[in-house]
Amino acid sequence: MIFSIRFLQAAKEKLQILKQYRRSILLIIVVLAFVKEASIYSDTSRNAFMPESKSQPVVALTFDDGPHPGYSDKIVEILDRAGINATFFIVGEMVKKYPELLKKEFLSGNEIGNHTYTDTRITAIEGNKAEEEIEKTQALIKKITGRKSVLLRPPGGHYNGIIVDIARKLGYQIVLWDLNSNDIVALPAWDIYKNIVSQVKDEDIVVFHDGISSTLDALPSIITKLKSRGFQFVTISELEKIKKARFYADARH
Ligand SMILES: [Zn+2]
Repeated sequence: MIFSIRFLQAAKEKLQILKQYRRSILLIIVVLAFVKEASIYSDTSRNAFMPESKSQPVVALTFDDGPHPGYSDKIVEILDRAGINATFFIVGEMVKKYPELLKKEFLSGNEIGNHTYTDTRITAIEGNKAEEEIEKTQALIKKITGRKSVLLRPPGGHYNGIIVDIARKLGYQIVLWDLNSNDIVALPAWDIYKNIVSQVKDEDIVVFHDGISSTLDALPSIITKLKSRGFQFVTISELEKIKKARFYADARH
């Protein structure tokens, strides 16, 4: 009996103590809620910077059909001087002849894509032949750069369901272009320049061709002009990352 009275008294004392601290506990809860709210606000203000960074336009320059001696090396030098990188969609049989040019492109930080072994229209040949065109080129890229390419540009931009399946099976993403420089039709440098600077938009992939003098002549001015407009030059894989980041940033708003 005495025991239970003591127990009751102890319980009463504990209740008193709890009552005394009630105000403090409440205060802690309020402070915690404020901290949480404040962190939400700081998150929002961080998001507010996203549109700022979104305003810088990006462009991916790409060069098909090389490597070509006297051209690829000069393209790399122009890019190096400008402090930018591009993507080279190389042809296997050209790499076989000029492996050091592919190495130069790669070592300067440019991205390497597969443009088949003989630069042939792969929709016009049998599936297993198309696969061979891609695989033989991949083997060379891997041998010279130590890395597998994940980008496939089918010659002429021609592809169909069979090519899509082959690309998927071999771990490739098919990459076409948004803006054609039309350098392949022997335009003078000035026309190539006008084509690009009058039409280029944010996130565009621009196609040029390796092995054409007027492309070499037009390139430095194109780069200078786009730089002055605030364009950031990216490789295809970088462009994909930027597009994804922008997509998710938009989705959060
Ligand atoms: Zn081609």
